[in-house]
Amino acid sequence: MPDVDALIKPLIEFRRDIHAHPELAYKEVSTARKVAEALASAGLKVTTGVGKTGVVASLKVGNGTRSIGLRADMDALPIQEETGLPYASCHDGVFHGCGHDGHTTMLLGAAQYLAKTQQFNGTVHFIFQPAEEGQAGAKAMIDDGLFERFPCDRVYALHNWPDLPAGTIATRPGPIMAAADKFSIRVQGKGGHAAAPHQTPDAILAASELVTQLHTIVSRRIAPTSTAVLSVTQIAGGSSHNVLPGSVSLTGTVRTFDPAVQNAVEKAIRQVIQGVALATGTSISLDYNRYYPATINHESAALRALEVAAGVGNAQLAPEPAFTSEDFAFMLQACEGAYIWLGQGTEQPTIPLHHPHYDFNDDVLATGIRLLVALAEDYLSEKEDRTE
Ligand SMILES: [Zn+2]
Ligand SMILES: [Zn+2]
Repeated sequence: MPDVDALIKPLIEFRRDIHAHPELAYKEVSTARKVAEALASAGLKVTTGVGKTGVVASLKVGNGTRSIGLRADMDALPIQEETGLPYASCHDGVFHGCGHDGHTTMLLGAAQYLAKTQQFNGTVHFIFQPAEEGQAGAKAMIDDGLFERFPCDRVYALHNWPDLPAGTIATRPGPIMAAADKFSIRVQGKGGHAAAPHQTPDAILAASELVTQLHTIVSRRIAPTSTAVLSVTQIAGGSSHNVLPGSVSLTGTVRTFDPAVQNAVEKAIRQVIQGVALATGTSISLDYNRYYPATINHESAALRALEVAAGVGNAQLAPEPAFTSEDFAFMLQACEGAYIWLGQGTEQPTIPLHHPHYDFNDDVLATGIRLLVALAEDYLSEKEDRTE
């Protein structure tokens, strides 16, 4: 097992410095600079500005032709931190509430370790991406030629997972995170006096009908053996007790794992909108945005990761995927690989991701670094007779 203990103390300081100075999507300028400087001083070849603020460091050892990509995300969330920690965010309303400070630090630690020990034959690309939180930084890097400029035969990413005990490593073949779609609906009536409802199509009544009808889609149009979530999360309209508003807007999200189910839900939303518009005399428009696809692990990469993980920590086959989403999905569409959860729960009940009291658990830094190192050393081992 890789001995990474000597690296940990300065890495905890690095993690807490990043935590104290969080940056939002595509604004990870000082984070990227700190990462690039640390990688360069470890002797790696560093490329900055990939996908706006992304950083890639490459390490080639020997004459092996295989290459592996290891990815971390660097961005923070627009949340006000409430941890009260001595290294809490110095930036009002910006917070590392998803542990990307920990991911960045673990990947840096793996780079430092591999640069020093060089026990592999081939190339490792350390990919530090911007804008995972809803702004598709992974796609921005791919569109900027990530896999042409830094070809990878396999790619892995870790995400800390508060629901699993600290040190547990879990993944699964096939879907692990959901596709995330956003719908925005605008119901247009005419507006008028509340005492004369017969003179205007009622946008509030139509919106209410829509909320009810939309929630029948998963239960009545999708097979019980399939899975999907549809939630209406925002509804806005009206400003007075005696005025029927001219318009009402609704927003929500759809989560699925199977593209056929995703297509069926979108189609049903369009049909419901047509029907409600006809029945209420309103006109209803829809903006439907499929912003992240489902994260689908490649079977051989996921199973191999579990074997490697068994030598590092408590490896578990994850029994089911999560309905949250992840833009590493784009990398897995372009390259074989897998997304892996690293348990970091310390207490019951655990504090979830995106909660104002969340903090990455530094006790799992070493396990995460060992896993990243072991994945690279395994994939780039010189044994050509590996069966996988
Ligand atoms: Zn997040
Ligand atoms: Zn995250």
